Amino acid sequence: MTVRHLFLAFPLALLLWGCTEKNVPPAVIPLPVQTEPVKTGDFILSDKTILTYSQGNEELERLAGHLASELQNQTGIAVRIAENGGTPEKDAIQMLISDENSISHPEGYHLEIDDKTIRISASSPAGIFYGIQTLWQLIPVEAFSKPNDKARTVSLSGIRISDYPRYTWRGMHLDVSRHFFPKEFVKKYIDLIARYKMNIFHWHLTDDNGWRIEIKKYPKLTDIAAWRVDRTHQVWTEVSPPEPGEKAAYGGFYTQDDIREIVEYARQRYITIIPEIEMPGHTSEVFAAYPEYSCTGQTLYVQPGTYWPNTDIFCAGKDETFAFIEDILTEVAAMFPGPYIHIGGDEADKTRWKECKLCQKRIKTEGLKNEEELQSYFIRRAEKMLHKLGKRLIGWDEILEGGLAPDATVMSWRGFDGGIEAARAGHDVVMSPVSHCYFDYYQADPEFEPLAIGGFLTLKKVYGFDPTPPVLTADEAKHILGGQANVWTEYIPTPQHAEYMALPRMTALAEALWSPRDGRDFENFLERLQPHLARFEKEGTNYSKGSFKVALKPMYDTARGEYRIAMQTEQLRPDVRYSLDGALPGPDSEKYIKPIKISASTIISAGIFSDGKIMEKASTDSILMHKGIGSRITLETQPNFRYNEGGASALCDGFRGSTQHRQGHWLGFYGDDLKATIQLRKPDKVNTIRIGTLNAARSWIFAPEKVEISISADGKQFKPLQVQSPGVDVLSQKVFRVEFSANLPDEKISHLRVEILNRKTCPPGHPYAGQAAWIFTDEIIFE
Ligand SMILES: [Zn+2]
Repeated sequence: MTVRHLFLAFPLALLLWGCTEKNVPPAVIPLPVQTEPVKTGDFILSDKTILTYSQGNEELERLAGHLASELQNQTGIAVRIAENGGTPEKDAIQMLISDENSISHPEGYHLEIDDKTIRISASSPAGIFYGIQTLWQLIPVEAFSKPNDKARTVSLSGIRISDYPRYTWRGMHLDVSRHFFPKEFVKKYIDLIARYKMNIFHWHLTDDNGWRIEIKKYPKLTDIAAWRVDRTHQVWTEVSPPEPGEKAAYGGFYTQDDIREIVEYARQRYITIIPEIEMPGHTSEVFAAYPEYSCTGQTLYVQPGTYWPNTDIFCAGKDETFAFIEDILTEVAAMFPGPYIHIGGDEADKTRWKECKLCQKRIKTEGLKNEEELQSYFIRRAEKMLHKLGKRLIGWDEILEGGLAPDATVMSWRGFDGGIEAARAGHDVVMSPVSHCYFDYYQADPEFEPLAIGGFLTLKKVYGFDPTPPVLTADEAKHILGGQANVWTEYIPTPQHAEYMALPRMTALAEALWSPRDGRDFENFLERLQPHLARFEKEGTNYSKGSFKVALKPMYDTARGEYRIAMQTEQLRPDVRYSLDGALPGPDSEKYIKPIKISASTIISAGIFSDGKIMEKASTDSILMHKGIGSRITLETQPNFRYNEGGASALCDGFRGSTQHRQGHWLGFYGDDLKATIQLRKPDKVNTIRIGTLNAARSWIFAPEKVEISISADGKQFKPLQVQSPGVDVLSQKVFRVEFSANLPDEKISHLRVEILNRKTCPPGHPYAGQAAWIFTDEIIFE
């Protein structure tokens, strides 16, 4: 049971750090676990600086060399490397592997800067590497100069940082099948991943639109399956098929030498590469080269876009298919030293398997129930091959269907549920849900953005990502290895565009995966982000300016008894203008400075302006003032984490939900009832109680079975009210709101108890009858 008050503290961190230049927080991303100032004066980084490292440690020798040459290239400062000997007392950067280190985490480090030395210590070279990344970020962006600029000095404030990551899997993915990305860009991408202390690069090497990895035994994979006709001038889902005689000349691949070079490049940055070889679906490109491994045996062309449904997948009935896959995995395993190979497993259409005699025979001889179990059989065979090669299998959450392979790790993309199910079954999980981790989605209003695949995922939403769902027990949660964002490239044809989609969202993800959950704050993050954006500008890395939408957030100041609306954005110090009269705001409308007091029902509309122009469409919402606003609300059951924006206080915040149930303001309860006790700010007479609910049968959301309301004048004795329930066709295909109401006697009340009873399961006649059902509630209105 939790008590939540309708009082959203205004971003505390912003107040603490202030907005003046003097007080900006150290701009380190991800936020370190512990930071404190050291008041000895500044360290002066200059040509006099000596760089030392633990004697005889080759890894540190390499890191020292790398740091020195980068300093020279980027700041013009030439530091001298000294192989330890007596550690100098001053003007020194020291890198130490230390057993005495109080940070036992293998990726943790200490960084101390005072007026004499910069000291990076850790229990492993990886920790030293992360300490170096932090040091880079402490160097003011102004110090990054052209190589031929004169040498100069940089002064660094005294600081003591202790740091280590929250998760061991901090991943970024890149799809190089939909569009081929050159080796040089892959290296730049790895550099960006490393800069933000991420440690996994998931390389999506094969898919319907091109095979990208050289396999010596099957040369046609790169001679034929890596190339398609060029349709970059057409929209991805509307591409025309190849013309007769048209040459397939668009594409490319990585040789095994390229791969080894990139693997080594990543290793030097403490990044493990997870290669992905798709199976059994997303494999139609293979059948342009080796059609004998499909069910039909038909030669296909490599698709220049996406055709749906995508029915041509590996034949699970032919033993030759498995021999082919084993040969490929054997070569892949030899190229990638990491422990995992990703086998895809997603979106395998079963049409061909249903028609194929050999697949059906396999189902029979193996005693399988259906095609889902045939997929499971397929994945288990792949897992056995990988085990023989000393590797572990990881796949998308569809590998749960038909039964999970014994040692498989699940990458949960369709939401959190697959990951929750796998963790509960004792399997390791990487969370990569579309809701927070799909960087091919729009990050701002599509009207102002380059064409993307769809969806909507803002910087702020990424920042709020938490890979560990609160429904897991502590033991189950141990299986959550971490999280990862995916950059699918159907709509991302160039490296510059890939950078734009990845940045700055990747920096928010890095913080969500590295920094402690408590103590993170979006406003503070935005403040720290600014020099990073400036550095992207300086080095010519493309990034998105993000969303210019204003979020209207209700707040209740209990001390003053005032209801206010805060206007939050993803921009630092934006020019927000608003109106309260239903008109759209213009450049001369009232400027937003601090949360505005609201004392009557109204329509509020706000936008961000630059040079007299609104940057995106204005945000507009109706506010319904009523006597319940500011009440203390106690919930006996908790909303599902996916529909819990604003928490319990959202039930009395003056905002109504729309028929788009994902648009916020709704609290969603999955299979549970809503049981709430509401204490009014002060005893008062109330004429009517109204309760808003939603019916959206297609989304398994049903108007409640029943609503019970009782009132009290002391919080102890409650008496029930007669509740008017509307007649509802819950199976209707339309989405509509359903309101319950009750009239109250002419007396003061202090408390209200509400029980909104869930139907528990989708009702008879629904396609998913018997599965758990939702109830949605937006507002409990006191009038
Ligand atoms: Zn078949």
